[in-house]
Amino acid sequence: MSINVRALAADDEQSAQEALSEHPQPDRVRELVRMLVEKVEADPARLRAAAAAARSRCGDLASQGEPPQRLRPYLVAEALAVRGLAVIEEAAGGTTPDGPAHTERVHARKKRRPASGRKLAWVVRLPPIDPPFTEDQRWRDGCMMAPLSWRQRVLRQLFPRRDVRNCCYYHGQDFHAIAAAVNAVHRQLRRSGLDGDDAGELTFRLLDGYGLSEDEHSTAVLLLAEDCGIQISRSPGERRWTYDEGRHRARALMDAGVHRILITVTDDRRSQD
Ligand SMILES: [Zn+2]
Repeated sequence: MSINVRALAADDEQSAQEALSEHPQPDRVRELVRMLVEKVEADPARLRAAAAAARSRCGDLASQGEPPQRLRPYLVAEALAVRGLAVIEEAAGGTTPDGPAHTERVHARKKRRPASGRKLAWVVRLPPIDPPFTEDQRWRDGCMMAPLSWRQRVLRQLFPRRDVRNCCYYHGQDFHAIAAAVNAVHRQLRRSGLDGDDAGELTFRLLDGYGLSEDEHSTAVLLLAEDCGIQISRSPGERRWTYDEGRHRARALMDAGVHRILITVTDDRRSQD
C-alpha cells in the first residue's frame, strides 16, 4: 500500500486531533485509546502500523479526490493510535505512580475479561463475528456477512450510525433505542430483586415506556432473556470467546456503534474439566 502523504493537508490532521480533544465525551475517547492499546498488547510497533495503515488509506482516498468527510474517520483513527502510542511511551517512561498515565497503564494492562454472569458490556469489546455463516443466513442477512475489522468497530463508536436501513430485519431497527431500553430495564429489574413471572411481568411493563416499534420490542425482549440474548462463552483452556447466541444482534449493535449492551457471559477457561 502506498503512502501518499502529500495528498493530505496538515490542517486535516490538526482537525482530527481537535475532534478528539473536543469530543463531547472525553471518557469515551480515553476508553477507546485504552482498548486500542490493549488490542495491540501494548506493542508500539503494532500501533505504529495501525496508524500508518489509517494514514495510508486516507492518503489514497485524498488522491482519488474523495471529500473530507470520507477521510475524517481515518484521520481520527490515526490520531487515536498516536494517543495510544503516547500512553505506551508514558508507561515505559515510569511516570509517577499516582498520575493519570499510571491509571491508563493499569487499565491498559489489566485484562478486563468479564467473569461469568449477566452484565453490561462494551459492544466494541464483544468477540469478532467470524464465519462460517449458513447459506440460509447469507440469503437472509447478506448485509451482515461482510467482515468488520476491529478498527472499523472502534471508529463506529466515535461515528455512530443512527439511521435505520431496509436491508434486513435487524438493520431495520434502531439499536441505540433498543440498547438504551434493555440496559435501563435490566438495571431496574436488578434493583427490584424480583424473579420468575414477577420479573417477566415487570419487564414487559417497563419496556412499554420506551416507545419501541414491534420488532424493536421483540429484540429487546430477546436481549433481556438470559438464554436468547447475546451469550458468549469460553471453554476450559480456551483463549477465544465464541457466541452461543446473538451473533446477528451483536453485529447490528456493532454496525450502529452502540456503546454498551446487556450480555450473558460463561467463562470456563480456568476450570479443570
Ligand atoms: Zn441488513
